[in-house]
Amino acid sequence: MPELPEVETVRRGLAPAMEGRVIERAEVNRPDLRWPLPAGLADRLTGARVGLLRRRSKYILADLDTGESLLIHLGMSGRMLVSGVMLGDFHLDHPAPQKHDHVVLHMEGGARVTFNDARRFGAMDLVRTDREAAHWLLAGLGPEPFGNDFHESYLVMALKSRKSPIKTALLDQRLIAGLGNIYVCEVLHRAGIDPRRAANRIASARLAGLVPIIRDVLAEAIEAGGSSLRDHRQADGELGYFQHAFRVYDREDAPCTACATPIRRIVQGGRSSYFCPSCQR
Ligand SMILES: [Zn+2]
Repeated sequence: MPELPEVETVRRGLAPAMEGRVIERAEVNRPDLRWPLPAGLADRLTGARVGLLRRRSKYILADLDTGESLLIHLGMSGRMLVSGVMLGDFHLDHPAPQKHDHVVLHMEGGARVTFNDARRFGAMDLVRTDREAAHWLLAGLGPEPFGNDFHESYLVMALKSRKSPIKTALLDQRLIAGLGNIYVCEVLHRAGIDPRRAANRIASARLAGLVPIIRDVLAEAIEAGGSSLRDHRQADGELGYFQHAFRVYDREDAPCTACATPIRRIVQGGRSSYFCPSCQR
């Protein structure tokens, strides 16, 4: 499932194809994805000029000159493809239409943006840009990890009231937006914190130390995504999935990169947690 760095990579890959350009034609090939698509989606997109492409948590928002923003969520299996533009050193030709190409945006200048989603866990919606904060998918989200509202005293306060394991608390999107299973595992390894420890029993200084670690881990992943945009692995035009070296995630029984102890996997709240039993206390 794409997390914040993957979604940010998609946003950066879409920007040159979409920002400042008119959607000359929108093809909407079915009435629903995970939820019904908004009424008249194709008509409301066709002829609109895209302004900024933004990201909030794992959602991409394309501001339109109609006063609406197109909200895009990749879900579990959604894929964004760009074609007809330069991506890194490659000019990507339009691919043949594929099964599950649910929404296709034909952009001014010849680019094409395709949303393909075999399992349809993704979503798209149109929201009035000036009322976006009240949208049901966005309203309950906590601060952005790179935003000014996310800082040491905020995080310490928020975690000191949680009795749940620190792993579970950090996955709560109301507390911090955009962190998912992969990057929480990586953050806790770098912080040396056992994922099973109750959040409110961890010293404040250690909790405060999570803020720069969260930012570093995400920034490094975004950087890896950025290099993948410039690199041949994205030459098929698919955005957002890139090779990234994880220190613990999906490395059960492999040696810890810091101390060579085998990485353990446990299940917390139905999700796998990977950690080093020696480095993480
Ligand atoms: Zn270790």
